[in-house]
Amino acid sequence: MSTDLIKVDAPAIELRGLVKRFGDNEVLRGIDFTVRAGEVVCVIGPSGSGKSTLLRSVNLLEEPSDGNIFIEGIDILDPETDIDRVRTRIGMVFQSFNLFPHMTVLGNLTIAQRRVLKRGKAEAQRVAHEMLGRVGLSEKADAYPSHLSGGQQQRVAIARALCMNPDMMLFDEPTSALDPELVGEVLAVMRALADEGMTMLVVTHEMGFAREVGDRLIFMDGGVIVEEGNPREVLANPQHERTRNFLSRVL
Ligand code: ADP
Ligand code: MG
Repeated sequence: MSTDLIKVDAPAIELRGLVKRFGDNEVLRGIDFTVRAGEVVCVIGPSGSGKSTLLRSVNLLEEPSDGNIFIEGIDILDPETDIDRVRTRIGMVFQSFNLFPHMTVLGNLTIAQRRVLKRGKAEAQRVAHEMLGRVGLSEKADAYPSHLSGGQQQRVAIARALCMNPDMMLFDEPTSALDPELVGEVLAVMRALADEGMTMLVVTHEMGFAREVGDRLIFMDGGVIVEEGNPREVLANPQHERTRNFLSRVL
């Protein structure tokens, strides 16, 4: 199917029966879920429950063992699908910022725009400055990553993703590597993005963020979705013993 035929009314992300095995280890055991356009879905769960594998499967950084993945209605496991094209619609932000250390912030923000989207230099720089403004770092365009705090580097990584004009953003524990006093500035940028209507799938341990910003909260354990629902309800009144156990350890 041509990726030009994006179905605008299709869910942003739809997983059906997603299974992922590493050898004998079944890490995802049949995951079904849908993220609608504009929705903010937070994913919580113990270490090793499959959260990162789930996120990485969404843009085929991990190849599923079974099941289906639809991005904006496009079957991305269809060999006819141009996966690189679909990936440009999906921004990813990881725990580690992965900025190029030998490039300035502006260089980091323009390289993929130029190489992948084939934007001209002036256009790429204009977009980069706009996105730096959105994350509150307009004055850091010429700085090198090593001269920035962890929180600033993560905000640059978010700006870098936004420069590609993604339809949705995936976050994998974006604040877990940060000193506690730097977490708030990154969460504030993410909250602003959510308020602007960005579709977001966020793996996080920040329960306050999940409660206040999330439209839906998913609790994963052992490669399955144990429970999902309104974040306030799930956090205040978890229905499953495994959810209660987990929350009693982290809240
Ligand atoms: P989480 O993000 O919830 O901590 P992960 O998705 O990272 O969990 O990992 C789930 C399980 O999959 C773990 O048991 C982990 O060891 C295993 N796993 C993840 N990636 C790989 C890989 N590339 N090769 C083998 N096992 C992996
Ligand atoms: Mg993880």
